[in-house]
Order: sequence, then C-alpha cells, then structure tokens
Amino acid sequence: MHEKSKFDVAIVGGGLAGISAAIELLDQGLKIVIIDRDSEENFGGLAIQSLGGMTLINTPIQRLNKIQDSPEIALRDWHACAHFSDHDHWPRQWAELYVNRSVDDIYHWLKPRGIRFFPIPHWVERGELGDGNSVPRYHIVWGTGRHLTLTLINELKSHLNSRNITYLFDYKVESLLTNGKSVCGLQGFHEKTGEAFEVDAAIVLVASGGINGDIDRVKKEWDKTWGTAPEHILNGAHRYADGTLQDAVKLIDGKVTHLHQMWNYAAGIHHPAPSLPKEGLSLIPPKSALWLDATGKRFGPLPLVTGFDTHNICKRISMDPYGYSWQVMNWKIALKEIAVSGAESNTAFRDRKIIQLARDIFLGNRALLEYLVAECEDVVTANSLEELVENMNGLNSSSQTVGKGSIELEKIKRSIHDYDAQIDRGREFHNDDQLRRIAQVRHWRGDRSRTCKFAKILDKKSMPLVAFREFIVSRKSMGGIQTDLQSRVLSNSGEPIPGLYAAGEAAGFGGGGINGLKSLEGTFISNCILNARMAVRSITSQPLTP
Ligand SMILES: Cc1cc2nc3c(=O)[nH]c(=O)nc-3n(C[C@H](O)[C@H](O)[C@H](O)COP(=O)(O)OP(=O)(O)OC[C@H]3O[C@@H](n4cnc5c(N)ncnc54)[C@H](O)[C@@H]3O)c2cc1C
Repeated sequence: MHEKSKFDVAIVGGGLAGISAAIELLDQGLKIVIIDRDSEENFGGLAIQSLGGMTLINTPIQRLNKIQDSPEIALRDWHACAHFSDHDHWPRQWAELYVNRSVDDIYHWLKPRGIRFFPIPHWVERGELGDGNSVPRYHIVWGTGRHLTLTLINELKSHLNSRNITYLFDYKVESLLTNGKSVCGLQGFHEKTGEAFEVDAAIVLVASGGINGDIDRVKKEWDKTWGTAPEHILNGAHRYADGTLQDAVKLIDGKVTHLHQMWNYAAGIHHPAPSLPKEGLSLIPPKSALWLDATGKRFGPLPLVTGFDTHNICKRISMDPYGYSWQVMNWKIALKEIAVSGAESNTAFRDRKIIQLARDIFLGNRALLEYLVAECEDVVTANSLEELVENMNGLNSSSQTVGKGSIELEKIKRSIHDYDAQIDRGREFHNDDQLRRIAQVRHWRGDRSRTCKFAKILDKKSMPLVAFREFIVSRKSMGGIQTDLQSRVLSNSGEPIPGLYAAGEAAGFGGGGINGLKSLEGTFISNCILNARMAVRSITSQPLTP
C-alpha cells in the first residue's frame, strides 16, 4: 500500500481481542482495518489453538451443578493468587470489573452467538494452601477455542457492514504515528515483499498479543527472583508474539508493566511436527504420575501435583539446577490421565463428538497416548524400572543439549517404592500429600473420571512404564501495556494517550497485568473479549476526530 488509507479504527492483530473489537465496531458502522503480520489462513491468532477454557463467575451452568459462586468469592480468590502490590491500581480495577462482568459481558455475549460450554465446570488452580479457586468455575467451550474463534470470524465476514472492514494480512506494524500527543496511525512493512506501508486512523487499537513467542525475550524478561531462566524453554505461544507493539507504545511514552510475569507451563514436550522452532506441546500432567528431578529424585517434601498451583510448579522446576523434569507413570495411568492443552489434541471436544468424548473419558484417549509414544522425542516406555532408566538416560545422551543430568537407578527406585508402599498400606494410612490431593480431587465429578484411584506406579497389571521428559513451555504474557477501564493506553504519568487503545494479551489482559502474579486459569481468552468490548464502548462514546 503506497497510499495512505484513512480509517476510523485501525486494529493491530487479528486474534480474539482484535476480532471481538471488530465485530462491535462494525455494529456501530465504523470504518475499520485489521492489520496482521500473519497470513490470512492463520486468521484468529492463538485462540484458534486454545482449549477454550474460561473462568466465569456465577453462571447458570455453575448453579445447575449446585456450585455456589459470587463476585465476592471470586475477587477474594483472585487477590489470593494475584498478590497485587500497592502500585497495581489498574490491575486491581480490572480484576474487580472482571469478576462483576464475566457473565453479562462474556457469557451472555457468547450465548446468542451459539457458543455453548461443557455442562460441568472444571476445578483448576485450587491453590496449594487453598489460595486459588474456591469452587469449580473453568468453563470449556464445546468445540474449543477453535469453534469460538471461527464462529466470530464467520460473524465478521457475514456482517451487514462487512464492506466497512479492510484486512491487511502479512503486514507487520512496527511503529505508531503521532500528531502532537495523539496517535493518528501506524506504519510498518509487508512481511513478504518488504514494501513499506502507512495507515491513517483516528484510533489505533493494539491487539497484537504478548511477548512469549520470542524465547530470547522471555529469557531476558525472566523474573529475577527466580534466578536465570532454564536453558531449554519450548515455545507454546504465537510466532509473532515478540513485543514489537509493546516497544512501539513505550517509544511514545506509553506505560508497559510486569513483563516478567508470565503464565508458562512446566510439562512441555517437543511437538512431534513443529511449525516453529522448538515448538512445545503443553501436557496436562497426570496427577497420579510421580514428578521427578533430572536425577530421579521425587520433588519434595511437597510433591508436585498439577491442578493446584501452576506458577509454583514452574518456579520450582525453573529454580532446580537442571531446569527440567520427568514424570513417571504406567500405561494405565497415562491412558486415563494424559491430555494435551489446546484444540489440536482434544479432537472430541474440538469436533464436538459426544460419543468419542465419552469414550475418551471412560476408556482413555488411546489414540493420543499412542501418538505421543510413537512420535514424541520426550517419551520412553519399558517393562522394568531398569530398562526405563536405561531408556531415559539413552534419550538424554542422544540429545545432549536439552537433557543434562542422568537418572540414578537407586534414586528413582526409592522414589517409586516409597510412594507405592504408601498405597499398599491402605487408604487409612495415606500420609503423602499427592495421595491426599488425589483424594480431594476425586470428590469433584469433573475430575473423578480423569483421575485414577490411588494407582501404584510399579503395578504389574498396568505395564509398560512410561516416562515423559518435560520442559518449561512458554505461553502467556501476564504483563503488558497499561490500560484504564476503557482500555485506553496510559502514559507514564497516568494520562490516557489520545487515540490509543490496547486489548488482550498485549494489555496484560487488562491494566497491564490483570492477573498479577498468578492466574486462576482461563482468564485469558475471556479477557480478550472483555477488554475489546470496553475499548469499543469508549471509542463509540465519543466523536472521532478526523
Ligand atoms: C495451545 C493453547 C491453549 C490455550 N488455551 C487457553 C484456554 O483454554 N483459556 C485461555 O483463557 N487462554 C488459553 N490460551 C491463551 C489464549 O489463546 C491467548 O492468550 C489469547 O488468544 C490471546 O489473544 P490476543 O488476541 O490477545 O493475541 P493473539 O492471539 O496472539 O493475536 C495477536 C495477533 O497479532 C498479530 N501480530 C503480532 N505482532 C504484530 C505486528 N507487529 N504487526 C501486525 N500484527 C501482529 C499476530 O500475528 C496475531 O495474529 C491458550 C493458548 C494456546 C497457545
């Protein structure tokens, strides 16, 4: 585009935040452009890959499940996780807005669009000491984030005012144009031809995602209180989530905060068919597996068990001298409990196949397990512990750069025998925190069917043994561009920058870090919608200056 084009609103980023804003802007008859560095076939950003889990508070689905929830309980839980500082005025404000508006502004926005949720909310992030979700409130979109995003894209394309929207795919935005203190457009270049372009717009909405797709940057921003970042981090974010727009906003005095706060996962394995360097799949780790360090010693004294405190698991593994871990289980455990986050591997959910889903839940997802064992470089199996250790160490020596350290037979034997002995003693004598947690998890029907009932690892009837080598996988930026409750970008002195808005992961999902230190989980795609809607309300409440 040689010539400057004039729009009411230019949206940088065609992910969920950008798409949600675009729908509402078209509703108001505004002339808009979506500019995305990615190609048209990838329209939708990360949400299309997502599982579609949303933390929603006091929904009809919760009430049907007799779950008593309220904005007050949710806000208390939020604060227990977030650990906001006294300076976190806007993140606090956004958190409060979220717990009060999640039903009206997200759930009821999606419902008329045909978006349905799985009828039993999941109970994630319970907190190691109860400092997490007090009740189940993780609602998974029936059809995953893929169905959600494609539904919204479809709405955009068939909108009555669709003539008012222009799409610029393969265009990378590099900087913002200003007129005095106001933002009046943006510029960049075509990703493939290198040709420069400029867009004039009364408003620019930055919805370009986070920084976690750039592993060097992830390491640079790493929380210093955790020491240095692990050497080998897998990439589970967007290839273009590199913070270009966060930097552009900073250049014009916009405030960017909390970039060291991230929502990563600890059970990353190498994607068998990567589409970007070091692409990782994020396992939803089996609760009945033993989580071991690089030498075969069980993490302790408090064992690592998923579903309670993702942040703390990442922290403990990152601060371990080896920076990666192993999970050891048997075939029966793996079959019942192994899952991978996202739309790609949850085909029954994604394709809305109820019979396949029921079979996966009750008989296990055999196709997924067999695929991982056959194709993933981080999985080994064996029929004895000795053979397993040999295979685990064989894996490490064949990939020296990623798996330093070696499993010691005596250590792993001790870890497994101690655990199995507890189970042998009988339920009345369980005095292991993992077993206590499994018992608690199994009380909730959303988890019972996916969690084994106190399964020994060395159970001869459940062979072979299976070990997963797991790395930190980079996922979401919890910090970002600071915004007020109208999603207006704030300057370093706290004033809104005229003409500039931000939404979604670029804005730390609201306020430059709505989640604070830890998320209640499922607070990302939902906030993309909320942030975008607040931006549009603000944009359309005032006359646009040419
Ligand atoms: C496998 C997986 C599972 C997930 N599951 C969940 C879940 O269950 N629940 C949940 O809440 N969250 C989940 N997430 C996270 C969630 O999907 C993202 O945080 C969210 O979709 C981010 O949306 P966004 O619109 O802010 O940014 P993105 O989706 O990252 O979109 C940003 C867009 O901006 C474009 N862009 C970037 N830089 C530029 C530039 N310089 N110029 C032009 N364009 C640019 C990119 O190409 C991209 O299309 C998951 C993520 C993954 C990967």
